Amino acid sequence: MPSGASVGDADHGVMRDVPLAPFTSIKVGGPADALATCTSFAAVTRALAWARAHEAPVAVVGKGSNLIVDDAGFRGLVVRLTGRLASISVRGARTLWCGGGASLPRAVQRAAAAGLTGLEFGASIPGTAGGAVAMNAGAYSSDLSEVLDWAVICDAEGRRRVGRDDLAMGYRRTSVQGGQVVAAVGFALSPGDPVEIRARLDEFRAHRRSTQPQGVRTFGSVFTNPPGESAGRLVEAAGLKGHTIGGARISPVHANFIEAGPEARAGDVIALMDEARSRVRAAGGPVLHAEVRYLHPEWGIGPPPLAEVD
Ligand SMILES: Cc1cc2nc3c(=O)[nH]c(=O)nc-3n(C[C@H](O)[C@H](O)[C@H](O)COP(=O)(O)OP(=O)(O)OC[C@H]3O[C@@H](n4cnc5c(N)ncnc54)[C@H](O)[C@@H]3O)c2cc1C
Repeated sequence: MPSGASVGDADHGVMRDVPLAPFTSIKVGGPADALATCTSFAAVTRALAWARAHEAPVAVVGKGSNLIVDDAGFRGLVVRLTGRLASISVRGARTLWCGGGASLPRAVQRAAAAGLTGLEFGASIPGTAGGAVAMNAGAYSSDLSEVLDWAVICDAEGRRRVGRDDLAMGYRRTSVQGGQVVAAVGFALSPGDPVEIRARLDEFRAHRRSTQPQGVRTFGSVFTNPPGESAGRLVEAAGLKGHTIGGARISPVHANFIEAGPEARAGDVIALMDEARSRVRAAGGPVLHAEVRYLHPEWGIGPPPLAEVD
């Protein structure tokens, strides 16, 4: 990325040489050359247009709860959403408006407080609304494709509002690409009994506490579940629960989680993913595919650089 260049003429929230680990839940990886904090659709578009004009790679980062940043960091521009683009409001009788940077668990709370049901499954998904839509995040046999009504997508050209069907939402995937920012979303919810909504939230949270590692640095599920199978069960059956490389280990609580210790590096996490894939395959299982995304130093966000397995 060109040194000394300013990111657009009016982006106040641009910082240089910013450590990215604190912006992720696993807290590994190096610094970004620049980070733009955008509070309006126009600011997002300006940042993206600037990056395109300067041929700088762009990475949109939400809560970083499904992201590994390379140890070498990122030679480009990170875009984050705050202010109005992280706000939440109830519009009309049943629409929940969320800026793309709004916390999904907070959106779930807001819906519950308004007596709106449909989003409870997201209570323990610690991402942003924009990141969750981009990933089509889900839990308990539901995902965001079931409640998303529309999204405002910003790119270097401007912004447009798209409907759910325009986003090709499938299992942990959508058509949202690098260089596109989900800047706001509308969830279509239904009126519900507040007591029942609260009970469902309590039940989901209790289930999480009893089945997944708590109070440790992770990025949620490492691998997507193969059809009809559980990635965690396969990794556990390969004998890898508790397996450690460097400062990272396969969680002893749930084998589809990687826990990072204080000395962990992104390289340790990727090496563990390689180990899990090759051991599952060697045991006659399927090739596992990464759910977690990876920030490459030069190219931006894509799949992690995993070794080939036969
Ligand atoms: C403890 C724990 C539990 C989890 N449980 C679940 C679960 O049950 N189900 C589940 O699906 N996931 C789960 N996750 C993973 C994660 O929370 C989700 O994938 C979440 O949707 C990621 O949102 P984010 O804002 O953190 O995105 P990031 O991690 O910041 O980014 C992930 C991807 O989304 C893109 N992105 C982020 N924001 C935007 C935006 N505004 N516009 C366009 N693209 C964007 C990024 O570029 C990147 O490609 C869990 C994670 C943790 C740490």
